[in-house]
Amino acid sequence: MKARVTVLGSGTSHGVPMIGCTCAVCRSGDPRDRRTRPSIYIEVAGGPSILVDTSTDLRMQALACGVTRVDAILFTHNHADHVMGLDDSRRFSQMQKGSIPCYADARTAESLQKSFYYAFDPATEKGGGLPQIDLRIIDGAFDVSGVSVQPIPLMHGRTPILGFRFGDFAYLTDTNHVPEESLPLLTGVNTIILDALRHRPHPTHFTVEEAIAAASRIKPRQTYLTHICHDLPHAATNQALPGGVELAYDGLQFEIEAASWT
Ligand SMILES: [Zn+2]
Ligand SMILES: [Zn+2]
Ligand SMILES: [Zn+2]
Repeated sequence: MKARVTVLGSGTSHGVPMIGCTCAVCRSGDPRDRRTRPSIYIEVAGGPSILVDTSTDLRMQALACGVTRVDAILFTHNHADHVMGLDDSRRFSQMQKGSIPCYADARTAESLQKSFYYAFDPATEKGGGLPQIDLRIIDGAFDVSGVSVQPIPLMHGRTPILGFRFGDFAYLTDTNHVPEESLPLLTGVNTIILDALRHRPHPTHFTVEEAIAAASRIKPRQTYLTHICHDLPHAATNQALPGGVELAYDGLQFEIEAASWT
């Protein structure tokens, strides 16, 4: 059994190009320097199609990457760049004729209920359609249509958030610290996608150097860096990275063995 992972968005919260910026990366002609807000999409052969986060750019990402089905949505945390596309999930509900299970920790679930209050209010007029959200609180490992998901506690500045592990693959965005207690949950991973904002220090995100150091503790065979800002030109940055570490980019796809996912 195989799974295909698509990086829908590899950019930081502003996206790249950033509004009003004329730097070389924001003006770059390299398509890998155009970064939408962070999200991934996982298609398990013979199993569910899982969206991780509903980025501000969800609609354009779905059109660009041919996402036509979403069986479940997993939320890493409640920041705007990771949740604000949730309204566009109504299109999937419409096509699939039903609500979509949405998994989030208690803090994120509470903010989804505030930000998208109209979708949770039975009195709201249906109009052009509403997101149909079947909210489920994460409090440990869980199962999405037969695929086991292990939440990975991460620190994002002072905020505890979640990464997710599926078999030997893990998505670890928006973090500047992988707690010691989370390392055993990552034992044996082969491929990870890890936060790396830029080279300059940041209070809530790994720098490229910090991400490389974290990857060397987690020891995957392959690391893709994501949540990238306009400080990092794709080609030049990628060339300087050590073996087994690459920058992700929008539209990046890879297939992984998913026999151990169920
Ligand atoms: Zn973010
Ligand atoms: Zn710029
Ligand atoms: Zn964040």
